[in-house]
Amino acid sequence: MNSAAPIHADINTFPIANGQLMLGGIPLSQLAQRVGQTPFYAYDRQALTQRVLDLRKNMPAELKIHYAMKANPMPAVVQHMATLVDGFDLASAGEMKVALDTPMPAAHISFAGPGKRPQELSQAIAAGVTLNAESFHELNTIAEQCQALGLNAKVAIRINPAFELKASGMKMGGGPKQFGIDEEQLPDALRLIKALDLDFQGFHIYSGSQNLKAESIIDAQKKSLQLAARLAEHCPTPIRKLNIGGGFGIPYFPGDTPLEIGQVGKALGEQMAATKHALPEAEIIIELGRYLVGEAGIYVTRIIDKKNSRGQTFLIVDGGLHHHLAASGNFGQVIRKNYPVAIGNKMDFAEHETVNIVGPLCTPLDILADKMALPKAEIGDLVVIFQSGAYGYTASPARFLSQPDALEILA
Ligand SMILES: *Cc1c(COP(=O)(O)O)cnc(C)c1O
Repeated sequence: MNSAAPIHADINTFPIANGQLMLGGIPLSQLAQRVGQTPFYAYDRQALTQRVLDLRKNMPAELKIHYAMKANPMPAVVQHMATLVDGFDLASAGEMKVALDTPMPAAHISFAGPGKRPQELSQAIAAGVTLNAESFHELNTIAEQCQALGLNAKVAIRINPAFELKASGMKMGGGPKQFGIDEEQLPDALRLIKALDLDFQGFHIYSGSQNLKAESIIDAQKKSLQLAARLAEHCPTPIRKLNIGGGFGIPYFPGDTPLEIGQVGKALGEQMAATKHALPEAEIIIELGRYLVGEAGIYVTRIIDKKNSRGQTFLIVDGGLHHHLAASGNFGQVIRKNYPVAIGNKMDFAEHETVNIVGPLCTPLDILADKMALPKAEIGDLVVIFQSGAYGYTASPARFLSQPDALEILA
């Protein structure tokens, strides 16, 4: 990267040629022509492939890698991921439809989430998808649906563990939680599964998200494997599936350092060997969303106005928080920080200026960059937000202010 690089462009993993960001081997301006409109999200097929290959190299060979679809459920992306990963984890019947349209066998798909409706449970049972049950009521509803269908259900229990994932961006286990069944209630839940004669598969232990600290992930994985090993003797049948969650994060902000997956993989291999005796038939699974797709996507929006207000420069673009809530800082962030941003058709432009990049919405929350030094941009230039492959479009309030939709492409 040369000196004209925008701040924390080190997070950019895409090549640059003739001042243009290249995605899928296509210069950004040409890609925008091909798409036919801004704003759009573009995901790089090759980057997705490479990411999974790199991960596999670092993980124990026998570990199964699942894709958590909610990170990016675009059908073309999910279709591509089906060729790369060992399974899918989904969280709604809507996601299940997209998953089942791919070549991924239903036997490698699991369905988690609190508040699954009877209809969704019934659809999943009919599909042969594994249900990660999150409450006693849900177990009973699954049994009722099985009776109505004349089928049995593959059921795993999602455990709300007594521990939590330290240093996690979003904690989803430990303490009182809406997710899963508390570790302390597991003996009762296992008795109920036995009484209901459900097809017991194993456990799902998911403790959090967006973690960049190898030690925290290693600690949570170790505790998850040990917990499953302790529970094994109480299970109606041997544990066949043990999903130990994921939580692998990606760097977004200056000072974020990428997760050391080599360390994670090595420790996990050792821990799997240490608990093998108690879990002889268990397939060990990790489920990742953001880590697999986050860095492979960008959001592209065009500058439609440029103005000065009391000494500050504002670039007003045709996209904003209605397409990319996370980049505006309103998707669970405590303190707003700038996502990595570039002027995608001026990557080598030497002259910089400090700008605010804002969207077209009538709310002061619609900020994509707050006082960032970027190559001097004009109306018509293309603003790129990196690290946008996960929790982008479908995690945004697209209907807010009745703006046009964004497009999504896989290049
Ligand atoms: C959201 C979620 C994931 C994916 O989390 P990432 O941080 O995107 O990896 C995985 N599993 C479950 C149960 C989830 O709810």
